[in-house]
Amino acid sequence: MKVVLIGYRGTGKTTVGKMIARRLSLPFLDTDALIEERAGMPVPAIFASAGEATFRSLEREVIAGLADFRGVIATGGGAVLDPENVRVLRKGGTVVLLEASAGEVITRTAGSDRPPLTGLPPEDEVRALLHRRRPFYLAAADICVRTGGRRPDMVADDVVSRLSGRRDPVSLPAGFALPPGEAERLDAPDPATGLYGIAGHPALHSRSPLLYNALFARYGMDASYTFFDHPDFAAVLGAARSLGVRGLSVTIPYKEAALAAADEADRHAAAIGAANTLVLCGDHVRASNTDWVGVRRPLEGVAAERAVVLGAGGAAAAAVYALQSLGYRVTVLARDAGKAEILAARFGCEAGSLSDFGSVRPEVVVHATPVGMAGDPHSLLAPEDLGPGMTVFDLVYTPKETPLLRTATARGCRTIPGTEMFVYQACEQFLHMTGIRVDDRTVREVLGE
Ligand code: NAP
Repeated sequence: MKVVLIGYRGTGKTTVGKMIARRLSLPFLDTDALIEERAGMPVPAIFASAGEATFRSLEREVIAGLADFRGVIATGGGAVLDPENVRVLRKGGTVVLLEASAGEVITRTAGSDRPPLTGLPPEDEVRALLHRRRPFYLAAADICVRTGGRRPDMVADDVVSRLSGRRDPVSLPAGFALPPGEAERLDAPDPATGLYGIAGHPALHSRSPLLYNALFARYGMDASYTFFDHPDFAAVLGAARSLGVRGLSVTIPYKEAALAAADEADRHAAAIGAANTLVLCGDHVRASNTDWVGVRRPLEGVAAERAVVLGAGGAAAAAVYALQSLGYRVTVLARDAGKAEILAARFGCEAGSLSDFGSVRPEVVVHATPVGMAGDPHSLLAPEDLGPGMTVFDLVYTPKETPLLRTATARGCRTIPGTEMFVYQACEQFLHMTGIRVDDRTVREVLGE
């Protein structure tokens, strides 16, 4: 068994870790102590003589040797900001986040000799770093444990009981659709510790379970990803909470509801008005959006200024956000010009109806409606709308070559299929949900792209 304790300094990782190790008869080690041994000096002296970057590289070297360690590991407060450390720590391990509020950390660390990491006054530093690190802690954790108002032995008892108590078979309430064989897979005698899933309706066509389960196996994570397909989002979130789900990918029609239900959201989800990712930690839900990254990444190498987004729904909002982040002047065109105007007004861009396309003459077109999906032979643009020098990105990804992309290729445009968006949003979402950075090549390999 490998148990990894993460969290800010002052959350009791070392004290609690030693107690857990004693209760489970496991060896204990502290990554800061290993770093001090390797450097031949205490942590404050490493910071003073060589700086934080040297400390972080020593920390990475030390953690790299812990992939196959069996025992309890207490980590430094910044260790899981490095996705490579998370990959090693997660391999064959259960990661436990010890949480404490800024006030509790400030009280507990008063008089500590640990070096400052910012130029801020100590109390402001704690608040700022806790805020900045929180998404990394939530992503890297399998189990979240509050330490406020509890003695270390109580926290250790809680962790030990949760380490053994999470392994009940997973059974979804009535009303949830599952593909054939999935209920039996979930009912396995030794279910995984970490449960994740796709929330949507319908969701059974999703390729995310295939992708995530393959990635969990690749990274040695004791985790499983399944379907949360139900007509009521409240039922989805209720089931996720009662089953201790760690992360949900969110698809149609729940992206807006997911954002509204979350306790906190990253700035991208808040600006787009939709979340495709929820990370759960106890009762707390954090929302984020990675769809926009899926639109942005494939366009990063394109040198252009003027873009059109076709459609005014959730994917269109993510596309406008992504294009603006790249400095594009964007026009939203939709069959309902009123809806295009509402979306455009949120982002301060231009709007019109589909028939206005010819007058805009964009260099980049992002298509964000379902037209052309799964056997639909239609395209919103006519061949004469398209020409060489244009880049056409169709967010529809089934089929890979849509009628729009076929026409665009024939007219000499550069084309980008919707599978590219899927690949890049998935890389980013895996990072948000697990703290591990996966590259697009690995995701393509798993998906057979
Ligand atoms: P949505 O919120 O339901 O929005 C759909 C948009 O398409 C709305 O503006 C809708 O207009 C418009 N539309 C629907 N049918 C149309 C038609 N026949 N002609 C013209 N416009 C039409 O859906 P979404 O979440 O934005 O998703 C849109 C598409 O993006 C999906 O179908 C999916 O293929 C794709 N997508 C791809 C990925 C990926 O990873 N590649 C991720 C997310 C989405 P009205 O409001 O007038 O109905």
